[in-house]
Amino acid sequence: MDDELCKKAKKQEKIKSMSQTEEMRKVKEQVIACQKCPLYKTRTLPVIGQGNHSANVVFVGEAPGANEDRTGFPFCGASGKILDNLLDFIGLARKDVYICNLLKCRPPANRDPKLDEINICSSFLEQQLEIIKPKVVCPLGRHSMYFLMQKYGIGEQVRAIGQIHGQMFKSKNIDMDLNIIPFYHPAVAVYNRDMLSVLQNDFLILKNFAVKAK
Ligand code: URA
Repeated sequence: MDDELCKKAKKQEKIKSMSQTEEMRKVKEQVIACQKCPLYKTRTLPVIGQGNHSANVVFVGEAPGANEDRTGFPFCGASGKILDNLLDFIGLARKDVYICNLLKCRPPANRDPKLDEINICSSFLEQQLEIIKPKVVCPLGRHSMYFLMQKYGIGEQVRAIGQIHGQMFKSKNIDMDLNIIPFYHPAVAVYNRDMLSVLQNDFLILKNFAVKAK
C-alpha cells in the first residue's frame, strides 16, 4: 500500500474505533439505567465488558460473580486469572480481545441465570456483538453456549460442553462470517489443574483469528 492509502486506511480505522467506543458507551448507559429484572436491586455494580471494541475474538461468560460485582470488571477473580493465563498462552492480553457476560448483573449467591433474566439482558450482549462485529465468539459456560448457538442458527448442534469444547461452528445466519467456539468455563481449572492443559489445547485454535491490538 502506498503512503497516502496507508494514511487513509489508518484514519478510517481510527474513526471506526472512536464510533465503536461511543456506541459501547451508550450500551453502558442503558445497562446502568436498566431495571427490567430484579437483579439491579441486589447487585453492587453492573459489569458491562472489557477490552478491544474492534476485537476479532469475543469471550462471553455467564454472569458476574462477587469480585466482578464489586469491581465492575469481568473475570477478575480466580477464573479470571485462568483466563489471563490462557490468553497469555496464545500470546494475547485482555486488550487484544473483548470479554463480557450473558448477564450484566450478578445473580444472588452466584446462582445460574434464569431464562427470563437471559431473555431480558441478552439484548445488551446482542448490541455489543453488533458494535464489535467479531470473527469468533467464544461462550464460556453452558448458558452462554446455548444462547449464542441458538442466536446464530446452530442450536441443533448444541451438545454437552464435554463433547463440543474447542470445536468451531460456523453461523448459519446468512450474510454473516462468524464462528462460535465453545470452551469449558475457566473455573473448571481452578480446582482441577489437569483441566488447564485441556483449556490450553482448545485455546490454540484462536491463534488463527486473534490479532494483537496496536
Ligand atoms: N464467571 C463468569 O461467567 N463471568 C465472570 O465475569 C466471572 C466469573
